[in-house]
Parts: sequence; C-alpha cells; structure tokens
Amino acid sequence: MNIDVRTSSPDETLLLGRRFAALLTASDVVALSGRLGAGKTLFVSGVASGLGISTQITSPTFLIEKIYTDGFLPMVHADVYRLGSVGEFEDLELADEGRDGVVFIEWGDAIADSLPPDHLVIHFEIDGDDRSISFQPHGAWSERDLEVLL
Ligand code: ADP
Ligand code: MG
Repeated sequence: MNIDVRTSSPDETLLLGRRFAALLTASDVVALSGRLGAGKTLFVSGVASGLGISTQITSPTFLIEKIYTDGFLPMVHADVYRLGSVGEFEDLELADEGRDGVVFIEWGDAIADSLPPDHLVIHFEIDGDDRSISFQPHGAWSERDLEVLL
C-alpha cells in the first residue's frame, strides 16, 4: 500500500527524511524519483541527519555517488539523473556497495527495471510550495510499517 505525505516547507521535508531514517536497516535500497528541485536531495539530507551523519550532504550529480560512513549505518547517495543508460547504472554496482548500509538513488525515470526486487520508491511531486511525497513499497518493503510516517 502506498503512503502519501504532503509537506509545505523545506524543513518539513527534512524532518520527514529524519523520521524515515528510523525505518532503515542494512542493505535497504531506496529510489527517489521526481523532477529536479522536487526535494529529493533535501529529503536525503534529513535521512543523513537521522542516521547520525554529520557530514554536509551535497548533491552528487557530477560525482555520481558519495559514501558517508560517519553515521549508525553507511549511506551511499547516488544521483543517476544524468546518466546516459541503464547499463551505466548497473556498472555502479550500488546495491553491492550498500550491502552493509543503505543506498539512496536519485533518478529521472528510466532505470526502474534495474533495481533489486526489494526496494522502496519515493516519488516527489511539486505542487507550488508543497511537495506531495509518495512512498511506494516493492517486494519485502510491503511489510515495513510506513504508516508511522503519517
Ligand atoms: P532535487 O534533489 O529533487 O533536485 P533539492 O532537494 O535539491 O531537489 O531542492 C528542492 C528545492 O525546493 C530547494 O530549493 C527547496 O528549498 C525547495 N522547496 C520548497 N518547498 C519545499 C518543500 N515543501 N519540500 C522540499 N523542498 C522544497
Ligand atoms: Mg538532487
């Protein structure tokens, strides 16, 4: 079942990410979809704060991925928005690197088929200053108690 949350400020999106962090365990894969400026990186900053990561989160767009290891769980943050193909994405072997931690992938849209069966999609829609944020579980993520986010 999808869970939909609406935020009306950047701080609210940050806080939602921080609360979401409490649901994470090692080897989780989360894909964040939505237009540029929709709030994906801000949400990941909130997650990082919830994981006890004190390093500033910056968009990995030009570096493709960054790994933060100063929190309770290692966090891989990737941005494949500008990658040319799914093949390039698979070459990153993100899930493998994130085995002991959690993987967050910001993306455009085309790579859905190369995600592992168990993953969460978080879709961000811009609605003026509001953001409509939809949590869409796949595979084992369906058993996760996402309703605590409501
Ligand atoms: P993305 O990673 O999806 O490209 P960012 O997180 O980098 O997006 O940027 C989101 C932008 O939208 C920021 O400039 C932020 O201040 C602005 N914003 C305005 N309202 C919100 C909101 N409710 N939630 C998240 N970001 C918001
Ligand atoms: Mg971003």
